[in-house]
Amino acid sequence: EEKRSLNFIEQIIEEDLKNDYKKEDLQFRFPPEPNGYLHIGHASSICLNFGLGEKYNAPVNLRFDDTNPIKEEQEYVDAIKSDVVWLGFKWARECYASDYFQQLYDWAVMMIKNGDAYVDSQPSAAIAAQKGTPTQPGTNSPYRDRSVDENLELFEKMKNGETKEGEHVLRAKIDMAAKNMLMRDPVMYRTLHRKHHRTGNDWMIYPLYDWAHGQSDYIESVSHSFCTLEFLPHRELYNWFLEKVSSAEDFRPKQREFARRNLSHTIVSKRKLLHLVEKGIVKSWDDPRMPTISGLRRRGYTPQSIRKFAEIIGIAKRENIVDVSLLEFCIREDLNKTAPRVMAVLDPVKLVITNYPEDKEEWLEAENNPEDENAGSRELPFSKELYIEQEDFKEEANRKFFRLTLGKEVRLKNAYIIKGESVIKNDAGEIVEIHCTYDPKSRSGSGTEESMRKVKGTLHWVSAKHAIQAEVRLYDRLFSVESPDADKEKDFLDFLNPESLKVVTAYLEPGLKNVEPGDKFQFQRLGYFNVDKESTQDHLVFNRTVTLRDSWGG
Ligand code: ATP
Ligand code: MG
Ligand code: MG
Repeated sequence: EEKRSLNFIEQIIEEDLKNDYKKEDLQFRFPPEPNGYLHIGHASSICLNFGLGEKYNAPVNLRFDDTNPIKEEQEYVDAIKSDVVWLGFKWARECYASDYFQQLYDWAVMMIKNGDAYVDSQPSAAIAAQKGTPTQPGTNSPYRDRSVDENLELFEKMKNGETKEGEHVLRAKIDMAAKNMLMRDPVMYRTLHRKHHRTGNDWMIYPLYDWAHGQSDYIESVSHSFCTLEFLPHRELYNWFLEKVSSAEDFRPKQREFARRNLSHTIVSKRKLLHLVEKGIVKSWDDPRMPTISGLRRRGYTPQSIRKFAEIIGIAKRENIVDVSLLEFCIREDLNKTAPRVMAVLDPVKLVITNYPEDKEEWLEAENNPEDENAGSRELPFSKELYIEQEDFKEEANRKFFRLTLGKEVRLKNAYIIKGESVIKNDAGEIVEIHCTYDPKSRSGSGTEESMRKVKGTLHWVSAKHAIQAEVRLYDRLFSVESPDADKEKDFLDFLNPESLKVVTAYLEPGLKNVEPGDKFQFQRLGYFNVDKESTQDHLVFNRTVTLRDSWGG
């Protein structure tokens, strides 16, 4: 293992190991709510929890926090599982908060009997109005002193769906004057006449987060329950509930907090991402512009690059925004070592070599990956008519333009040195063909004096008659500002980047005709590209993962 200093979460664990915990006590969980697809923020939490599991050789559960049937679906459960697997982690047990509904109910009944919970029959607005303020105590509900028997009877009716939605809630009886507003008789259960994706119509009451989460941790014997900082004020309530359901000698989980991770030029909130999908702003949860794990996968990100990213940003105590260029750096680093280099022309213009024989064709050797000596080489067809990028030619240019101009020389990668001679234009004045001559002795790797000649600029190209076509989807950042949802007064949709997707028809070297979805390449001088899941042999589709360099600057 790499030597680095312990992060503050590891320090907490080390401290606990010195005091009251044994190594075999350690157990963690990753607890997603199945109300959307996982995003890059979740990747941090996954890497934290499963990383601790690996470090301490401790079990890590995948726990679905499925207590809200309004927003949760089996589709999300399935997607979450496959994303965690894809990232390369194995959970010890697959758990569901909904599996504990009976236990939670039994504990709630016990709390009613002990005078620790009561049924409140006020509308939610009245309950909210009695909450008080941080400086003003709240007001007791008129139902706070209901008899145990009446509470038990009403609670059972709620459970069976014999009361209306919104008519009653079950509240913990704590202290309406508590400093911590969350301790002012928090709601434990609400009535929802909804079908749950796992429990069906068995339950017509559903526990709230605070009541379900800590108890789920306790049932599973989780030692450390890591959550994001906004739950810090919930810790007191987390502990209060645990004291009610367990005894002092019991092994109790501890809630500890770390900072939520935000990524620039995107949003990391399932609710807002769902909005993008529902409004049709992106095509799906796995649209390659989405910061979801599945979107990143389709974009061409590897599990290694995402784990590396999570490792570099580490764990923090304070919220901040991580620039997306760091994520891009991680995928470039990874693909630079592994992705075969190929030639592709995205915005073609015809190049005719006037002194190259009409019917001749040759196959030129090209190295597959200079960063990987085992990657070998392949042969590329070369002929009289080629395609190059439009932006690689200017009729006239200043001395800093190291590409093709009239009267100047450049090298065609893995091929010959050519010299721009003339252009043919259409009626609109656009260049339709560039004519050039080549130096037959200058072939790359031929060992001649001419082949060693240094010219400024090397261009990629494909042979026109051999090239195959592909749809290439050029993705860019979804939002044009750093934090689209930072200003609560504004609508994050106002900051969409209108150029986040551009589709072009590209010409590729013919060896790419048999690619499969998920194959990754470097299109030389352009960037890294991933074969999309919609790609077929008859209609190839590539997604641009990332350009070769950060073109946004800064
Ligand atoms: P969202 O607002 O996107 O729904 P959430 O926190 O409600 O986020 P959960 O499904 O409850 O989503 O999250 C599962 C775990 O992932 C939790 O422990 C949560 O704290 C953590 N998590 C979620 N978002 C981030 C983030 N941006 N950075 C770090 N951890 C996160
Ligand atoms: Mg949550
Ligand atoms: Mg949420």
